[in-house]
Amino acid sequence: MTRYRQNLVLLLIVMGLAAAISMLTRDWAHRSAVADLDRDAGYELRRAVSGLQAILAEYESLPHILAIDPRLLIALQDPNNPEVIDETNRYLESINQIGKTSDVYLMNSEGTTIAANNWRSVKSFVGNNFRYRPYFRDAMEGRTGRYFALGTTSDIRGFYFSFPVSDDDVIVGVVVVKISLSDVEQQWASPWGQNSFEVMVTDQYGVVFISTRAEWRFRHTRPLTPAQELVLDLERRYSDKELKPITYQNAEAPTQLLGTGARFVTVGTDPGNEQTYLEREADMPEAGWQVKLLMPLDRVKQEVSNVLLLSLSMFLVIVLLVMLLLERYRRERAMKHAQEQLEERVEHRTKDLSEANIRLQNEVQERKRTETALKQTQDELVQAAKLALLGQLSAGINHELNQPLTALRSYAQNAQAFIDRQLHDKAQMNLQEIVHLIDHMASIIGQLKVFSRKESESLGAIHVGACITAALKITESEIRRHRIELIMNVNEQDVLVLADMVRLEQVLINLITNAVQAIAEMVESEGEAALDGSRRLSIKVIENTDQVLIQVQDSGPGISDEALSHLFEPFFTTKKQSQGLGLGLSISHRIVESMGGSLTARNVPGEGAVFIVTLRKADVQEEREESADSKPDMWMTK
Ligand code: ADP
Repeated sequence: MTRYRQNLVLLLIVMGLAAAISMLTRDWAHRSAVADLDRDAGYELRRAVSGLQAILAEYESLPHILAIDPRLLIALQDPNNPEVIDETNRYLESINQIGKTSDVYLMNSEGTTIAANNWRSVKSFVGNNFRYRPYFRDAMEGRTGRYFALGTTSDIRGFYFSFPVSDDDVIVGVVVVKISLSDVEQQWASPWGQNSFEVMVTDQYGVVFISTRAEWRFRHTRPLTPAQELVLDLERRYSDKELKPITYQNAEAPTQLLGTGARFVTVGTDPGNEQTYLEREADMPEAGWQVKLLMPLDRVKQEVSNVLLLSLSMFLVIVLLVMLLLERYRRERAMKHAQEQLEERVEHRTKDLSEANIRLQNEVQERKRTETALKQTQDELVQAAKLALLGQLSAGINHELNQPLTALRSYAQNAQAFIDRQLHDKAQMNLQEIVHLIDHMASIIGQLKVFSRKESESLGAIHVGACITAALKITESEIRRHRIELIMNVNEQDVLVLADMVRLEQVLINLITNAVQAIAEMVESEGEAALDGSRRLSIKVIENTDQVLIQVQDSGPGISDEALSHLFEPFFTTKKQSQGLGLGLSISHRIVESMGGSLTARNVPGEGAVFIVTLRKADVQEEREESADSKPDMWMTK
């Protein structure tokens, strides 16, 4: 199912649930609100009834107490005595004030008021006859009278208590206490305008006498019969007030919601504009009243909508919470899925990498094998080159040694002949020549030793200056003999190169010897005097960042162009046979290269030739203890 469809289904479910919840909640909230209303109505009704009862109880005994006062009897016995009546009026006036009653008055047996608290007022009861009132009749019959009515004179609604005034068991008059009922209405009414409940007190005929709603007063809740109308007229209970009807009937509401004693009623003075109330009523037989407590149903509606709003809000919160949790769960699941995928990918990659690693290792091994094979091939090639060189060398040696051997033979034969002829001096000379030739041959053979040396001899850091000094020690006699000026630009200790001390010495000896021979040759050809003072041999050490250059420069004739191109080839020489074999530079070149360096040569204009040995610079750590007694191999004597 797609996410969109899932959400749609979820939305439908939520809406369905919301509808169900609102239905259930509405029903439940309605029941609960009605039950609350019913409970409140019962409570308010009890309060209203007990309030009324308390008022009645408070004043009930007052006429009885007044009736036994002799002053009232005196007034009844002497009604025409103004002083007595005046005193009685004042007495009743003070009683009314103290008792906070509405009126207190005294009637004679005819029902005419002879004294009253309001004797000063224009609406005074004095002189008025109230015999038609039931409370008068009751008192005249010896009973306590209780009655409520609208005052005919005062137009004030009141409750009347009466009691007979007797003179030796003969009832001669009636004392009446009237209390106002408008205060209780004010007590029930809400100080903030609209009442939270309404109270209605009706008489036995259903006429509203007391009510929190002024417009309901003096209306009959049910139709009055002619007989009832007659009674009310006779008693003048409601004075001259016209009694109008009020709608008061059972409402079309589900009564099953209510407990016993309550009902829904529709009340209203204007037809079509009635309001529905929950009604609870109680009888007050001591006053002949029926008290109705009316709770407006608006409160129910309000409560239902409140509960509905609350429950729907809660439901919405729960739905949001559930959606939140669901989303979180979804997201966690997606993350877990992504993580699993990632792990899988990583695993895959790792596998690929380890495979690649194995492949690489194999390749490295293969390379190593190839390298070994190559090295082997190279070694073989070198070996072959060596053999070729050996062949070349052998040819050269053959050539070089043949002549001296032939000469040796001749000298030896000649020496024999000279000895036979007793020419010892000549024989001696020949023998000297033979020794000389043998020395020459030994020197040729001695040079070949370099080929037997291993090239891979270990190199070390050696002091260039020390090496040059050692080479000069061997060559200095020759330099001095030819009166050559030696110019040195060497720091003996400082510069270290990576080389083999003995072999570097051999190279330097060769270069110095060549230089000396070149200068000597020039002297020979140009004459001693010509070159006096300008025979120079200069040895200079130049230090670069990672290289060291040793320059051996002479003031000789320089190298011819032809010689420059063959300089490092074996057996190339321009010298006489006795002076050189042409192996020195070729061997030197080979030695320097084997030490990782190079040997080059060039002419210096105005001077002779310069030979430059370039070597790798060495660190102090690489300095190798050279054996103190190791001497350069004397492979070359020129
Ligand atoms: P040899 O000295 O036995 O001839 P080398 O290999 O040492 O053999 O030298 C080869 C040749 O290089 C020499 O015969 C000479 O012609 C030339 N040569 C070497 N050194 C110098 C130099 N300093 N000045 C001029 N020519 C030189």
